[in-house]
Amino acid sequence: MRSILLTGGNGYIGTHTCVSFLKKNYKIIVLDSNVNSSPISLKRVKEIFKLRKNSQENIIFEKGDIRNEIFLRNVFINAIKRNSPIKAVVHFAGLKSVKDSVIDPLSYWDSNLFGALCLLKVMNKYKCKTIVFSSSAAIYGKNIKNPIEEISLIKPISPYGDTKVAVEKILENLFLSDTKHEWRIANLRYFNPIGAHHTGLIGENPYDVPSNIFPYICGVAIGKYKKLNIFGNDWPTKDGTGVRDYIHVMDLADSHLSAMEFLLNNEPQIINLNIGTGIGTSVLELVKIFEKVNNCIIPFDFYDRRLGDVAQLIANNKNAIYKLNWKPKKSLEDMCRDGWKWKKLNPNGY
Ligand code: NAD
Ligand code: UDP
Repeated sequence: MRSILLTGGNGYIGTHTCVSFLKKNYKIIVLDSNVNSSPISLKRVKEIFKLRKNSQENIIFEKGDIRNEIFLRNVFINAIKRNSPIKAVVHFAGLKSVKDSVIDPLSYWDSNLFGALCLLKVMNKYKCKTIVFSSSAAIYGKNIKNPIEEISLIKPISPYGDTKVAVEKILENLFLSDTKHEWRIANLRYFNPIGAHHTGLIGENPYDVPSNIFPYICGVAIGKYKKLNIFGNDWPTKDGTGVRDYIHVMDLADSHLSAMEFLLNNEPQIINLNIGTGIGTSVLELVKIFEKVNNCIIPFDFYDRRLGDVAQLIANNKNAIYKLNWKPKKSLEDMCRDGWKWKKLNPNGY
């Protein structure tokens, strides 16, 4: 049986995607440098599958950096030696903080662009030509019409978003240059993943003070932070606070499996897909639901707008639903309940 390589598979979304692939009995190889994650996450994934026979044999961990081509080649060679060559890749590995990318753009270009180039060169060498790439809603322009379609204006406002557009462009060039028509490529443009696996065994594990809203709310709920600062209550939205399209991380994880199966079962192509629920939720609505579901109080203050923020980001997810055998199943209540369960059970992360 051939394997699927998950670069960055120890990270937040990668760990949950491991669960999706293992549930369908795929053999997976997780490659990670652990620059922003803990290898314990994989032990937890194995714990989730304790009841399932043989599942532990289906995960291999390769520790290293995607920018190290020799290491990458060895990952492909090792898989061949195990008689389970790599059939396809899900590429999560990279840096993801919009704020840090403004401060240190070179590190972002190095990890996200150079890392992708190294990976694609090695994939090409070993004739592995199927890839699902972690792109982002951060590639879209400011103040465009919601819900956002895949053909909406691409005009990122951060170096992080720029790196995602650049990798999408390289993938497009690669696809068009391929006279044999072998490349199969899906760019999944994630909206706002939150929550955790329902067991609370795996979840988001930020090392610094979180800049994203959901881990910050969890930090307030656990008593680590006194209150939530809501960035602006004068946005042109239903209650003046920012609106986002939050998606349960397990629904997002499942979209990778669906995209991979779609690519492998159809003719070679390149597709861009928004992955969200299509539902907009304001900061105040999110706080209210979190409080109600988890029976707690989240103190908050209104604060100035955050630099670079936009009023709304909502996905038009019709293409993903139409093309993939996928649709988001979990509610905002599920996201709040599961995310809080993870935080309660793991107040300091892994
Ligand atoms: P994460 O930081 O939790 O996971 C990324 C993983 O990649 C980490 O385990 C990290 O150690 C690893 N990594 C980073 N650079 C590496 C390198 N050079 N070599 C090997 N491993 C490396 O992030 P996440 O939230 O799981 O996001 C996964 C992907 O999805 C990223 O590419 C991110 O840009 C993208 N994305 C995330 C979000 C989000 O809200 N979380 C939204 C849109 C897109
Ligand atoms: N937000 C907030 N306080 C925080 C973090 C975020 O009010 O401490 C708001 C932010 O202005 C936006 C929404 O919550 O309207 C989602 O922000 P996040 O950073 O999680 O996602 P992104 O803006 O990258 O989509």
